[in-house]
Amino acid sequence: MEQFIYLDNSATTPVKPQVLEAMLPYLQEEYGNPSSIYKKAAATESAVAKSRMQVAAALGAEPAEIFFTACGTEADNWAIKGAAYANRKKGTHLITSQIEHHAVLHTMEYLEKQGFSVTYLPVDGQGRVNPQDLENAIREDTILISVMMANNEIGTIEPIHELAEIAAKHKILFHTDAVQAIGSVPVDVKELGVDMLSLSAHKFGGPKGVGALYIKKGTKIDIFMHGGAQERGRRGGTENVAGIVGLGTAITLATQNLEEKMQRITALREKLIEGILARIPDARLNGHRTERLPGNVNFCFRYIEGEALLLRLDAKGVAASSGSACTSGSLDPSHVLLALGLPHEIAHGSLRLSIGEQNTETDIEHVLAVLPEIVQTLRAMSPLYPGC
Ligand SMILES: *Cc1c(COP(=O)(O)O)cnc(C)c1O
Repeated sequence: MEQFIYLDNSATTPVKPQVLEAMLPYLQEEYGNPSSIYKKAAATESAVAKSRMQVAAALGAEPAEIFFTACGTEADNWAIKGAAYANRKKGTHLITSQIEHHAVLHTMEYLEKQGFSVTYLPVDGQGRVNPQDLENAIREDTILISVMMANNEIGTIEPIHELAEIAAKHKILFHTDAVQAIGSVPVDVKELGVDMLSLSAHKFGGPKGVGALYIKKGTKIDIFMHGGAQERGRRGGTENVAGIVGLGTAITLATQNLEEKMQRITALREKLIEGILARIPDARLNGHRTERLPGNVNFCFRYIEGEALLLRLDAKGVAASSGSACTSGSLDPSHVLLALGLPHEIAHGSLRLSIGEQNTETDIEHVLAVLPEIVQTLRAMSPLYPGC
């Protein structure tokens, strides 16, 4: 049988069987519109309510603080545009980091065109925002700060608690994109001290096309999707009931036995990192050595192109990615690697292997068996390689 090893869990994850099972009735017999008043609709209405409780419980929030969206991108857009416009009379300055997902970065760039000004905080060589830089960037007219909890390319975990504390001290709203963090590391909105938090089901064993935004009670934020009275009048549109049920089930499963799962996946990550460093010369690990997502491995191999590497890995049955799924396919170097201070020619040649719950030690051993030879072959073909 042909090998297939999926190591792109930061791009998306397979739907867990229990999640699919929970969703199926809402794609078949339970088709009532949750807003209708007859008995048939009560089942879907209570399914949505149950999922809201599951998401709230997983995050340490109240159910009334959870709003379902169509994806993580929508949650980011809503948090940032919604808070920017609702608080525009207080000021028009926003702060974010240089390594955010495009769902945040492109939203910020759009707002700059609408008359807001944005400060993009730098990161250190490991991808961490320095809290002192945030403190220094705050102005009289700052109304919103958005910094991601964990980076999707290099896996670095940001000091959100400290950053949110600074925001609270200055009475500025704080949003975090926690799409990569949920199900990988503990996430508690009260402990973090954030006002808004985005998540997306397909990154932790749920279906694509459904996400949620946590909005702390009392947070001033505009409506993003105008329409019916769904989501307490704040996000119109008939609910994606099956998707929402999938999200609730997936977040419950993903946050169960988290410590044990983190230990197991971290051990696989360390085996992969140590194995690559021992077998491949001129390999550079990107991201923080310890403050990183348990499943994230990101390397640059000097003198070779990321794309060529991915194709050859694919031929050996390994699905991986170069940085982010959204930028592979474009030839631009990763904005995240550039922010770390890497030169352009190196920022082109990155490989991200993201380990998920389904991966085993055998998967890691397979990668360690095929990767060194692929790198060596590509280097031998490269005009930049000093050996040729
Ligand atoms: C995947 C991802 C998103 C976008 O989520 P979608 O549900 O795919 O729109 C946003 N932020 C981060 C950090 C991500 O990894």
